[in-house]
Amino acid sequence: MTSPDYEIVIGLEVHVQLKTVSKLFCGCSTEFGAEPNTQTCPVCTGLPGALPVLNGQAMELSLRTAVALNCEIPRLTKWDRKNYYYPDLPKGYQISQFDLPMSQYGWLMISDPEGEFEERKIRIIRAHLEEDAGKSMHDEEAGIADSRIDLNRTGTPLLEIVSEPDIRSPRQARIFLTELKLLLGYLDVSDCNMQEGSLRVDANINLHIPDQEGMIATPIVEVKNVNSFRAVERAMHFEAERQYERWQQTGERLGDVSKQTRGWDDQAQVTRAQRHKEESSDYRYLPDPDLVPVIVPAERVELIRTQTGELPAALRDRLQQQYMITAYTADVIVNQGRPLVDYFVELAEKSGNAVLAGNWIQQDVLRTLKELEISIEQFTVPAASLAELLTMMDAGQLDNSRGRDLLQAMIESGDTLEQSVARLGIEQVDDAALEELCRQLVEDNPHVVTDVQAGKQQAVGALVGKARQQNSNVNPARIKEICLELISQLPSAGENP
Ligand code: ZN
Ligand code: MN
Repeated sequence: MTSPDYEIVIGLEVHVQLKTVSKLFCGCSTEFGAEPNTQTCPVCTGLPGALPVLNGQAMELSLRTAVALNCEIPRLTKWDRKNYYYPDLPKGYQISQFDLPMSQYGWLMISDPEGEFEERKIRIIRAHLEEDAGKSMHDEEAGIADSRIDLNRTGTPLLEIVSEPDIRSPRQARIFLTELKLLLGYLDVSDCNMQEGSLRVDANINLHIPDQEGMIATPIVEVKNVNSFRAVERAMHFEAERQYERWQQTGERLGDVSKQTRGWDDQAQVTRAQRHKEESSDYRYLPDPDLVPVIVPAERVELIRTQTGELPAALRDRLQQQYMITAYTADVIVNQGRPLVDYFVELAEKSGNAVLAGNWIQQDVLRTLKELEISIEQFTVPAASLAELLTMMDAGQLDNSRGRDLLQAMIESGDTLEQSVARLGIEQVDDAALEELCRQLVEDNPHVVTDVQAGKQQAVGALVGKARQQNSNVNPARIKEICLELISQLPSAGENP
């Protein structure tokens, strides 16, 4: 959809709520959904004399993320006050990091499973730790025109991850966010739940437009209030078109006007102008005198590096190579998160057929999880049981549709494979019985034999159908195989035995 008349330039700012038990500088709970203002204390409400103490776990989770994002981690990092006045910020400043963030200069690779763009390196400018503000609620009940403040969220640890403007399309923006969220899930550092606000995105966008003088850039716009990755993609499409039209009408360029903030209206599918964006000088950043700088020894970073498990990109490569599955299948499995990867590996190992395992996960398992709205951890069929089923199929004892019936029965009843086989009345028809059946069919249907001998292999389908009418437990693939074998042993018409 990108117009060839311009290039879209996007940089993202992502705030991720870290999965800590308590807040960044006090012992209050970070649990979501409690009664308003029940999780506060003198520190997070900023009462005079209360002193902040750094939560070590928040630092640990941030370092883990920084390592995974290939960031440089300086030996020394410090805390700064970002001053602004807003009712949901009782201290009058946010404790953040200004000139010495805990990490910088990293990158995340993104690629498009549908191949619309080449693999791209999106650079990370910095990732720093800061505390969250409270929540303002305006006019939430009809007829009551007031504003209320809930300070439960005040002081919750956030990691702010800022990308370079290396993103070149709305689709890339969505894929970057999806990959980042996946990574954070593998690292177990955040729930990344956008509905609960544990992942929030601001997107900076402008256009590069070729003209007679070379290339001009439109003013940068920051888009806020985007509540889903899809919304980010749509907002970027809208904003690109809007900026292009605006440029055609006014010729306005980067530097002509100050940076604008616009909010995404998901209902109307448009962005709308908001307040002018503060320059960083407006925040009067100053070092926080209540907090000591943090020293991060190189050994600590090394230890985190060695403890970091296999991350999505490496995992995709390994699954592909080790199990000979396609890049697409590896992508689907890895993108579901670590528990599904574990399920696949067990299924592949125990069934001895990784390709079949991959197909069944993609088709039957994932479809079931979606239908039942459950996670793989809640799936009632253990990998070991499904592996037995796949083994039976692999041995030709079950065809696809019988296999599906069995899995369905196991899901619905919670029975083992053996119990389900018995309950569905699936008997194993042994090879001798199958051969006898086929011999009879071949004998009774000479026209099929003639057709097959004349090169029409598909004619054997008629025999398979008849076999299934007689016994629904027979495996069609096996019947086809045996019949063709028997026919090939017969002398063809007109040929002397
Ligand atoms: Zn507190
Ligand atoms: Mn921030």
